[in-house]
Amino acid sequence: MIVTINNKNYEAEAGQTILQVAKQNGIYIPTICHSPHLSDVGSCRMCLVEVENNHKLVVSCVTSVTDGMRILTDSKKVNETRKTVVDLLVSDHPMDCMTCEANGNCVLQDLAYEYGIKASTFGTKKFPRFEIKAQNEFIQLDPDKCVLCGKCVRTCKEIQMCNVLDFVNRGFETKVSPPFDEDLGGKDSSCVFCGQCVEMCPTGALTYISSKGKGRYYELKKTITICPYCGVGCQLELRTKDNKIIQVGSVYNENSPNPNGESCVKGRFGYDFVNHSDRLTDPLIKRNGHFEKVGWEEALDYVVEKLLNIKEKYGSDSISGLSSAKCTTEENYIMQKFMRAVIGTNSVDHCARLCHASTVVGLGMAFGSGAMTNSISEIEGSDVIFVIGSNPTENHPVIGSKIKRAKKNGTHLIVADPRKIELSEIADISLQQKPGTDVALINGMMNVIINEGLLDKKFIEERTEGFESFIKIIESYTPSKVSHITGVPADKIIEAAKMYGSAKKAAIYFAMGITQHKYGTNNVLSLTNLALLTGNVGFESTGVNPLRGQNNVQGACDVGALPDVYPGYQKVNDPKIKEKFENYWGVKLTDREGLTLTEMFEEAGKKIKALYIMGENPFLSDPDQDHVKKALKSLDFLIVQDIFLTETAQFADVVLPAASFAEKEGTFTNTERRIQRVRKAINSPGRAKADWEILASLANKMGYEMKYNSPSEIMDEIARVSKLYGGISYERLEKEGLQWPCPDSNHPGTKYLHKDGFSRGKGKFFPVEFTPPEKEADEKYNFILMTGRMLYHFHTGTMTRRSYPIDKHEPDSYVEINIEDARKLGIKGKDKVRITSRQGTIETYAKVGERVKPGQLFMPFHYAESPANKLTNRVYDSKAKIPELKITPVKLEKVEKRVSQREVLIDERFTSIRRQEQ
Ligand code: SF4
Ligand code: SF4
Ligand code: SF4
Repeated sequence: MIVTINNKNYEAEAGQTILQVAKQNGIYIPTICHSPHLSDVGSCRMCLVEVENNHKLVVSCVTSVTDGMRILTDSKKVNETRKTVVDLLVSDHPMDCMTCEANGNCVLQDLAYEYGIKASTFGTKKFPRFEIKAQNEFIQLDPDKCVLCGKCVRTCKEIQMCNVLDFVNRGFETKVSPPFDEDLGGKDSSCVFCGQCVEMCPTGALTYISSKGKGRYYELKKTITICPYCGVGCQLELRTKDNKIIQVGSVYNENSPNPNGESCVKGRFGYDFVNHSDRLTDPLIKRNGHFEKVGWEEALDYVVEKLLNIKEKYGSDSISGLSSAKCTTEENYIMQKFMRAVIGTNSVDHCARLCHASTVVGLGMAFGSGAMTNSISEIEGSDVIFVIGSNPTENHPVIGSKIKRAKKNGTHLIVADPRKIELSEIADISLQQKPGTDVALINGMMNVIINEGLLDKKFIEERTEGFESFIKIIESYTPSKVSHITGVPADKIIEAAKMYGSAKKAAIYFAMGITQHKYGTNNVLSLTNLALLTGNVGFESTGVNPLRGQNNVQGACDVGALPDVYPGYQKVNDPKIKEKFENYWGVKLTDREGLTLTEMFEEAGKKIKALYIMGENPFLSDPDQDHVKKALKSLDFLIVQDIFLTETAQFADVVLPAASFAEKEGTFTNTERRIQRVRKAINSPGRAKADWEILASLANKMGYEMKYNSPSEIMDEIARVSKLYGGISYERLEKEGLQWPCPDSNHPGTKYLHKDGFSRGKGKFFPVEFTPPEKEADEKYNFILMTGRMLYHFHTGTMTRRSYPIDKHEPDSYVEINIEDARKLGIKGKDKVRITSRQGTIETYAKVGERVKPGQLFMPFHYAESPANKLTNRVYDSKAKIPELKITPVKLEKVEKRVSQREVLIDERFTSIRRQEQ
């Protein structure tokens, strides 16, 4: 259709609003309450335009164009009305722009300037009228500065799915508020401090409480980069001043996992660690039990001498390396190349071993590729989502919100988790299986699907193999038998099976509740069986989707920071592949598979004499802390390269100071295989260097030439040696979003895998029998402890515990206890309790409720002062060598004294942090 705007004709489509047509043709119409990321309400009246056909004023953001419509966006009538709107808003707004946090970044200020309003012709009210709410650590709400546009309300409801904010009161008393006029951190507020409402607010009504000092928007340097926390890989804008991160803003990019500018509290507020005074600034060598600061030359020469001596004395395989899912893909590439080409061993691994090793093995066996099959943007297109062993609203919050939104828009949701997690509360079907019984549960669902005839025979016949042997074992998993094993009522198993089996597009999402088990690989294979049985893989909005834990665990795996594969998952023991890499790297390589991370610690002091740890903290993250301690102490030589003197680094002989994510260039690959640019925003402290630079210097000193001028050159090399990344270059990444496989420079990347065939040819069924967990509760250790993550902290706490607002908000470790058990043991919420396993004892605080079932406990592992991994055991999956971190038999006791020395210490810690901040 044709519409006329300001006497010029434009093409438009039916259903488009006047505002959309104007915008796409570069015609300015002012707005306040409109955002392309939110529903339109047309409440502010700023976007009024005149329709010449009838001389009426209409609200352009909610009025659709019609054929022949003649619109004026700048007529006298329009401008006078808009001016009155601004005049009225100014009459109800304090004129304290000079001290307002939003000065220079305020839509009302811009409009008052545009329409020349110095003071309202309606007079100005007396301020303050409302109380400022700023009792939390993150966000201030000043209702006096609110223009009631409702963007924050809609953001919270439509994007974050939290429904925290709404309008309260009537008339001139109307304001935006959390429930009961509380602070955002009040006890009835469900705010999760994602900060998206602040980003959307057009005035200074919602602002950040910065722990790093003030900074007006216009004086802050902006750098778009990637969140350093979870595998979602949100794009973020670092706003910096004087080499400090002052704020983290939203990025609105369609080619990203968070196109609506989403973030969680960690991405938005967990950045103080970058500028923390604990940052390592110089290389350290331990002499007589004490670290001494030294220069780079001395430190590197020392490392080279030690490594060469150990290599000569015990052979290349006596040295092993831990790469890092926190470092860039380029740095992981250089680390594995260093271990393979310079040291001469394949013993290089990283923390994927502790989280998704069983995924990589299981998905590889069944599909031929160990990664998430589909994309984050496809979540909302599924008919059924099956979440099992994953708590996305805390561990992958932006994905959690998308699942909530899909559910609200009609997607059916099945959640299977031993704990009653947030998604269980909104699920159509919630199954609380006993820990370690996942295979039985999934086999039970498949038994129902087969009996109900819900299997996809055509898909099975054309695209799979191994069905006959698989189906034989499924027959015995009747719902009643499975109910007995899992504790899930038989009718719920049937209901869930029918729901999943009848869906046109069903997607599975899983995480460490599935993988961190002695039979983790079997758990994953059960899920691949389920997807193959129903033809739910190889299509949009379906698939088997592991949610990877760390920001770059996918990238670290992709470029071969694993002991059995070179970059691109090419086997080290395949002679042709070995020869190929020998030619690429100009050096002889070994075909002996290296040791896994867990094997390195078993062999420390025996086969392994030296360990090079880059950006990992195994003392807190690995199972059985006493064992890890003994292993670290038994090494002849330990190098730790990190940004802090971590608990692990304290055991080191040499510590090398590294740059943080904000101080270097590179890429991270997120959980959906999306390769994204990490950009330098500030300089590193002291003499800290990017990890790749340190490794390249060492290689050069050891006689192997590594001459790279920038990480972009490293990516070019990755593209040459691995087809998965064959078409990736920094030049392309600046312009487009790319997901691997991307084999050449014309390939657009791959949104979902296995479309025209599985990476291994046919999808393979594996008959998987249920086997009970290795260790179960007994008389002495009568609880089962599960460990995991929570919303506010991350991994070993190295970064979030040094981010002041986050740690202040969530300072204490805790254990979740069922109310019945708590009653029996006389334990109340916040009581101090002692947990003992066969491996050790720790103390922590009780959180009493119904999230866990009786007989079960859950504890996050982020707290050095209550290290959950002091308790966990070293039972490993035989194929993936992942530890069984989800099942540890323990006993629980109340500790009589309620206020502990630790609480006093926490107070002291915060006082000292506050002092540092001042
Ligand atoms: S910070 Fe997030 S959760 Fe809290 S009110 Fe704002 S949008 Fe809602
Ligand atoms: S607080 Fe900000 S975003 Fe929310 S209604 Fe007021 S002005 Fe709009
Ligand atoms: S969801 Fe993950 S990637 Fe996104 S901001 Fe939060 S921690 Fe960062």
